[in-house]
Amino acid sequence: MAAPDPIRSIVIAGGGTAGWMAAAALARRLERQHVTITLIESSAIRTIGVGEATVPGIRDYFRDIGTSGTEVMKATNGTVKLGIEFADWRRNGHRFFHPFGLYGAPSRGVQFHQYWLKLQAAGKGTPLADYCLASALAAHNLFMPPPEAPPNDLGTFDWAVHFEAAAFADFLAARAKAGHVRHIDARIAGTEKDSATGHIAAVTLDDGRRIQGDLFIDCTGFRALLIGQALEVPYIDWSELLPCDRAVAIPCARTGALTPYTRSTARAAGWQWRIPLQSRVGNGYVYSSRHISDDEAVASLTADLEGEPLADPNLIRFTTGKRAQVWAGNCVALGLAAGFLEPLESTSITLIQTGIERLLDFWPDRHFDPALRTEYNRIADQEYARIRDFLILHYWGNQRHGEPFWDAMGAQRLPDELQHKIDLWQSRGRFVRYLWESFGDPSWLSLYVGLGLTPRQHDPLADFFTEAELEGAFAKMREAVTRAKALAMPHERFIAEHCRA
Ligand code: FAD
Repeated sequence: MAAPDPIRSIVIAGGGTAGWMAAAALARRLERQHVTITLIESSAIRTIGVGEATVPGIRDYFRDIGTSGTEVMKATNGTVKLGIEFADWRRNGHRFFHPFGLYGAPSRGVQFHQYWLKLQAAGKGTPLADYCLASALAAHNLFMPPPEAPPNDLGTFDWAVHFEAAAFADFLAARAKAGHVRHIDARIAGTEKDSATGHIAAVTLDDGRRIQGDLFIDCTGFRALLIGQALEVPYIDWSELLPCDRAVAIPCARTGALTPYTRSTARAAGWQWRIPLQSRVGNGYVYSSRHISDDEAVASLTADLEGEPLADPNLIRFTTGKRAQVWAGNCVALGLAAGFLEPLESTSITLIQTGIERLLDFWPDRHFDPALRTEYNRIADQEYARIRDFLILHYWGNQRHGEPFWDAMGAQRLPDELQHKIDLWQSRGRFVRYLWESFGDPSWLSLYVGLGLTPRQHDPLADFFTEAELEGAFAKMREAVTRAKALAMPHERFIAEHCRA
């Protein structure tokens, strides 16, 4: 057995959300490991500055670094997120909600939605959202922390946060520095490689300094200075599957309600986000430049702002995809340097989080056993592809006819694994679960039903109950949701009492 040769120095290149998330987490988890952590960023090079909606897993990250959702919201003008409202995706005027919560109650080993499909087919159904507490709370701008031990699936939901991206990075930076992360403000001008291993030996700064490290974490955003430019790991381009390649963001004053959810509204050549914060509303139009010009996208977004714009339009170009390997040699890429999937389900920050957790799971020493990075990369490939397929479903399932962008999205050839999922759903309302899925059955259910994809048949085992029996049971479930909802408070009041910035 080779003698252990522990990592003694870590260099994090980049100080956006990815860099500071990595710094804060590693500082805490590697306490007492005699490791120095240095974060290098250039204040002359802007961070991406967007990225304000999350998924519930982020609260595990908060806990891991010794904080909580309410503390983060207080520091970042944050609000609660119970899910995403999709407006106009199926067709203009139609809305549905993707909640962070479960639907209904299963019975006799048959999933709830099979009974729901049976009643729908009989023309006796009510909306799916009636059986989900998170959806009910969101529809009325309510919130309460989920019960510790919900009596059944009906009371089970989770929540995430919206926050100001810059304030979140500042919050993390303060924690990381308190954890002895060394911070250097300078531009990385070059890299030096070890001629024997091809690993990165050091980065050189524009002030002449040379910063050596054992492990390098590339958080330099779309520039991908280390993984892309120095190590030349190719980028796998998925823009044929997800053709949106630009976004324009404009924050504005809030005039509408402080909603506990993100809204995504379909537009002629993409979609528009609305993220409510205590201080303002974040808005952006994600679009395909083949279908609309930048000027038209800016004009469309500007015309749709609910309040006074608070900044000039921030135009961002991107290519959907990921690095062929997110860990190469002694360099691990996180955040935009690793890859990018459009923010339709707010998954980029969660991918940073899982990238950090996995790095700690497969923590190397200075031998950098290739088996560790092979497994790390294999899992990352799966994780990205699973999210990519979930995003494709949003577009493919649309019923907006006569708009070139949406017609093309509805006609596209799907990746085989996604096609298989959809086939199973359409056959019998069955879910297919692959390894490393970020979204569980209730998320897929909300999308299939929201987009109007109806299975040809329900599960025959759901026929155990008569329609009348199901109607009675469903009425009780709706009452249970209504009772539970009555315990909640207005989201605005929850924020005022627990996390006013
Ligand atoms: P950046 O923020 O670009 O940071 C890069 C850092 O590298 C900066 O500190 C910069 O100074 C530094 N740097 C670069 N070059 C050098 C150099 N030569 N020398 C020194 N330093 C250097 N994610 C979500 O989870 N939810 C969302 O709602 C969401 N919305 C998004 C909307 C859009 C339009 C886009 C494009 C992204 C969105 N994301 C979202 C993704 C999210 O913004 C990013 O994942 C997150 O901000 C991480 O960015 P980053 O830290 O990798 O890169």
